[in-house]
Amino acid sequence: MTPNELQQTEQRKRIVQLLRRHGISPTVQRIKIASTILERPQHLSADQVLALTNESGRPVSKATVYNSLGLFARKGLIRELFVDHERTFYDSSTHPHHHYYDPETQEIRDVEEGAIQLEMGAPAPEGFEISGVEVVVHVRRIPAT
Ligand SMILES: [Zn+2]
Repeated sequence: MTPNELQQTEQRKRIVQLLRRHGISPTVQRIKIASTILERPQHLSADQVLALTNESGRPVSKATVYNSLGLFARKGLIRELFVDHERTFYDSSTHPHHHYYDPETQEIRDVEEGAIQLEMGAPAPEGFEISGVEVVVHVRRIPAT
């Protein structure tokens, strides 16, 4: 086995364990999709995941990619982001954090930790507690002069 093949086997093993730990049965296709999105910290739309997943090997159908991403998000393996009404993005980082979003380029990036400090002016509605806050800061590139 070449070092590269060995590395791929190790990565595959890690992904299988990660899927199992989240209660997801590790099918060949799910392993392939999870490897794509979890390769590095990133924010991808379902179509981007589809294109990247199918760059090599046996193609995975669009429906399988969409269904798997939904399952991964429900199980807490990845995070679903609602920054744009037309498409859902998926975040490989699941810890609570806020985002910058450029609607023009559909680019998403993380807001530095501690950069947004929120203070509620009133308590949560009667009978509720706050379970999370997600801020999307819309940005646009400053035109070069
Ligand atoms: Zn993020």
